[in-house]
Amino acid sequence: MDDLLARNRAWAARRTAADPDFFPRLSRQQAPRYFWLGCSDSRVPANEILDLDPGEVFVHRNVANLAVHNDLNFLSVLQFAVDVLRVEHVIVTGHYGCGGVRAALGQQRLGIVDYWLRYIRDVHERYREAIEAAAGPEEREDRLCELNVETQVMNIARTPIVQAAWARGQALTMHGLVYRLHDGILHDLGYRVSRPEEIGEPHQLTFRRRRD
Ligand code: ZN
Repeated sequence: MDDLLARNRAWAARRTAADPDFFPRLSRQQAPRYFWLGCSDSRVPANEILDLDPGEVFVHRNVANLAVHNDLNFLSVLQFAVDVLRVEHVIVTGHYGCGGVRAALGQQRLGIVDYWLRYIRDVHERYREAIEAAAGPEEREDRLCELNVETQVMNIARTPIVQAAWARGQALTMHGLVYRLHDGILHDLGYRVSRPEEIGEPHQLTFRRRRD
């Protein structure tokens, strides 16, 4: 722990030397344009991968980057990002070699985490044909990683939080990316959602206008 605290002090000193107003400015407000939902994996830190400074990306991480529609923790973070910070982009980032995705592809009982991995198993079941068509075990895992990201992008777009933002004219786009651990490169899956028409009619909510 002493080593960690010493590293922190050295880092803060370097930042202050480079930009004396850096911490005072950040302490007054944060105004990130991006909200990142990523995996808890220690090799996938949002700021570092995007080469962004503190204050530039709002982050939520969990096992296998899941946006579960009744996860109050995630929804609270999303609502703050959308309603208060008014981020313009929500970025779901999966990564190849994800332990959560790998575990979900296996059938070993693991414990409490099986309740969480269930959401990935549902993705597997839904896209079974596409996943089984992949060349080998590694390719199957990669495909499930990508399809999991796509599913989470849509889960976020379908939340009443995002739909309410669109209804009041706020521009908000959901994106799906996947990160390659072996070269550090982020790939855009080309899957984005930015309008209510794209989320499927049964999920579209109507919003009553407030009469003042
Ligand atoms: Zn992971």
